[in-house]
Amino acid sequence: MSVSAADEARVIAAVPTGLFINGSWREAASGRTVAIEDPSTGQTLVEVADGAAVDGFAALEAAAGAQGAWAATPPRERGEILRRAFQMITGRLADLALLMTLEMGKPLADSEAEITYAAEFFRWFSEEAVRIPGDYRPAPAGGGRVVVMRQPVGPVLLITPWNFPMAMATRKIGPAIAAGCTMVLKPAELTPLCALALAEILTEAGLPPGVLNIVVTTDASGTTGPLIADGRLRKLSFTGSTTVGKSLVKQSADRLLRLSMELGGNAPFVVCADADLDAAVDGAMVAKMRNGGEACTAANRFYVHRSLVEEFSSRLTERMTALRVGRGTDEGVEVGPLVSAKQHSKVVELVDDALGHGARIEAGSIPEEGRGHFYPPTVVTAVPDEARLLSEEVFGPVAPIVAFDTDDEAVAAANATELGLVAYLYTSDLNRALRLSERLVAGMVGLNQGVVSNPAAPFGGVKESGYGREGGREGIEEYLEVKYLAIKLAD
Ligand code: ADP
Repeated sequence: MSVSAADEARVIAAVPTGLFINGSWREAASGRTVAIEDPSTGQTLVEVADGAAVDGFAALEAAAGAQGAWAATPPRERGEILRRAFQMITGRLADLALLMTLEMGKPLADSEAEITYAAEFFRWFSEEAVRIPGDYRPAPAGGGRVVVMRQPVGPVLLITPWNFPMAMATRKIGPAIAAGCTMVLKPAELTPLCALALAEILTEAGLPPGVLNIVVTTDASGTTGPLIADGRLRKLSFTGSTTVGKSLVKQSADRLLRLSMELGGNAPFVVCADADLDAAVDGAMVAKMRNGGEACTAANRFYVHRSLVEEFSSRLTERMTALRVGRGTDEGVEVGPLVSAKQHSKVVELVDDALGHGARIEAGSIPEEGRGHFYPPTVVTAVPDEARLLSEEVFGPVAPIVAFDTDDEAVAAANATELGLVAYLYTSDLNRALRLSERLVAGMVGLNQGVVSNPAAPFGGVKESGYGREGGREGIEEYLEVKYLAIKLAD
């Protein structure tokens, strides 16, 4: 059933619109606000406070002030806050999903899936909070003991993107809370509403003032730059583009900040001759179309064995072009609009470039009326090597397909990128599966499955996809510092 206008208005009216600093909501010091747009209509949903450097400093001051007491808060208490927040998010699934669809555009079912995924990070890290490990070792020469402890790194700056407005936030907030770090979150200015709703939930769940502070801003570098230069900040965790990530790494070098960088992807999707074709097409649909293609894990290039390429292409085309595109709140819609006009022109540009190089396309359809940034699900075949579609992240519903003949050729093509987040591999042969998984240069490999995201697993990339891991046992390590205590024992 489509959502009523009254429901939309109720959900928007309930969302806080201020900056969240030291446990309370306030306007930006400048009094400025930013309009949050519904990407499927181009209309303003609501205005929220538009912070700047001065607000960022207030947020960091609150975080630094709360750090000592928060680090001393028993792990069980920190974990219980996360656990309560997990339950509250799950309990409010429908409203949060609607909020997400309104600000970001994805269909309600996708929003629900993201919110469930986002909440799971809180559940996972509620369990990790009480399992922070230590170690006690005899020194090899005798006489001494080595004690290894882990302590919270200190106040952290979290910068998140617009494509998963809630999961990218909980994936950082969860381990920071579990580890005992306080934080300043700067959500993407296109989609800040879910993060603001999260602050309210965490407050209700018992999070003390100052532990989480949120500053929305249209001046990202002007607001975060001074924080990165400030001695009170001890870590930066960023999810976003490789270009911005590199600039943040450079900025933080002067202070040798601890960093976690989840950057762009250019995922290959390799279908070997012995693959189960039904499974490969199903997996391709998920790997490509989860979040409408607006995911750093999205399959960006399909390499299919020549013996299967025709069948695979025609089946994928049939599935892709049949998808119903429209406003995410409408019943039966499977693909929403792209998030912005800028994102839309980037997709148009990359497909035009491929066409200019002789590629062929088959595209589905988009709604006829409306001002949304809609792009039809599209399959591109006969893609030549030089097409930008194979080297740049398309971040939209476009699937380029290339044929290969040998495993070596597939691996070489898959690895021919400076990025290395995830690779997908379809084969029924165990030996080939393991051999090729080892040779694919990526932080993650989806073997016979089109989705790798899982709160219990270490998400992250290699090469220019960044460093650091989120989720899994590894996720909390990013927020902990190792301290070694050298103990001399008397005889
Ligand atoms: P995308 O291409 O997905 O929009 P970006 O890297 O531009 O990725 O954005 C990811 C996040 O980084 C957003 O919160 C955005 O506001 C923020 N951001 C963009 N530029 C900068 C910058 N120069 N300094 C700090 N944060 C930035």
